[in-house]
Amino acid sequence: MSSPFRFEIVARDPNTRARAGLLHTPHGVIETPVFMPVGTAATVKAIDQDALEELGVRLLLANTYHLYLRPGHETVQQLGGLHRFMGWPHAILTDSGGFQIMSLQGLGKVTEEGFHFRSHLDGSTHFLSPEDAVNVQLSLGADIIMMLDQCLAYPATEEATRRAARLTVRWARRARQHFDRIQTGDAPASVSTGPRRPNSEPRAPALFGIVQGGVDRELRREAAEQMVELGFEGYAIGGLAVGEPKEVMYEIAEFTASHLPEERPRYLMGVGTPADLVECAARGVDMFDCVLPTRNARNACLFTSQGRISIRNARYACDPSPVDPTCLCRVCRRYSRGYLRHLFTAREVLAAMLATYHNLYFYLDTMMKIRQAICSGEYGTYWSRVRTGP
Ligand SMILES: [Zn+2]
Repeated sequence: MSSPFRFEIVARDPNTRARAGLLHTPHGVIETPVFMPVGTAATVKAIDQDALEELGVRLLLANTYHLYLRPGHETVQQLGGLHRFMGWPHAILTDSGGFQIMSLQGLGKVTEEGFHFRSHLDGSTHFLSPEDAVNVQLSLGADIIMMLDQCLAYPATEEATRRAARLTVRWARRARQHFDRIQTGDAPASVSTGPRRPNSEPRAPALFGIVQGGVDRELRREAAEQMVELGFEGYAIGGLAVGEPKEVMYEIAEFTASHLPEERPRYLMGVGTPADLVECAARGVDMFDCVLPTRNARNACLFTSQGRISIRNARYACDPSPVDPTCLCRVCRRYSRGYLRHLFTAREVLAAMLATYHNLYFYLDTMMKIRQAICSGEYGTYWSRVRTGP
């Protein structure tokens, strides 16, 4: 077995809750706080793995729901697991699929047992239990596995929020027990989806619990305490960034994080803008993922040190300056705003590629600055500088 998953805190900011750490995974050590680009179908859209490595990405997120439906986790497993399949020797986190099932065209139905859902591809019916979600992710070979949870849209009624938060805790218990039985060899890794035991590649993946509870502090506290009692290698704060006001999101993220163990990584799911990363790192969050940099890039929306710009705007037609004059990425060193605008206007494939590269560079650069500020004990200063804006 390769060395098990471990989280090590290397610096704490004296004036905020921010901390810098090292996440030891079977596929490398990751510096935190970390932003994970989203590789939905085992690919981060419009950018290849060489470029991701060049950008310094060492932890990617892949979507269990999408890979389960296409090409199928058995196919990925036959091709050597997700790392070999997508040519990615670094770490991978897979989400459980619950969020996609509930958010994609409302094709899901939840019961105590799990999710009954229809494929958005061909309408075929499927069932995913908390145990199945563990099995699928193990057969994909992820380094970090997320438990199946029920995430609600905002706003939700108090009753629905309570039901989802408590169901998620019961599913957490099932996921934990099932995962542990597989790791100790007491249970075959197959339930209704029937994947075989994970391939022989040595690894010791981590299982993360997810705290739900909407914007209700009492439910969040209850859920966090019960999750911690079950004991996970890391904890995610789910069910935020689903439409609630920003200040509420920050407040609930901070409140939830304060009820999670200091020595475990905290992952705020689906967040966010560069400003959100700065705000939430200050509140003790270690891990983030979001489609924003990549999705926005494909929609010609670019992140810069002066705020977002829509590169399709006619004002950039004859602009010889780079996307962001302070950016050191290879896109900004080589191409002008005028050229990028032309590529988007002409619907050239290169437009999405260059924009994606730049946006991810911007995000990773932001994370590097966050980490440096924490390590030098100056996060408070950095935070207030970002808040006052460009
Ligand atoms: Zn750039």
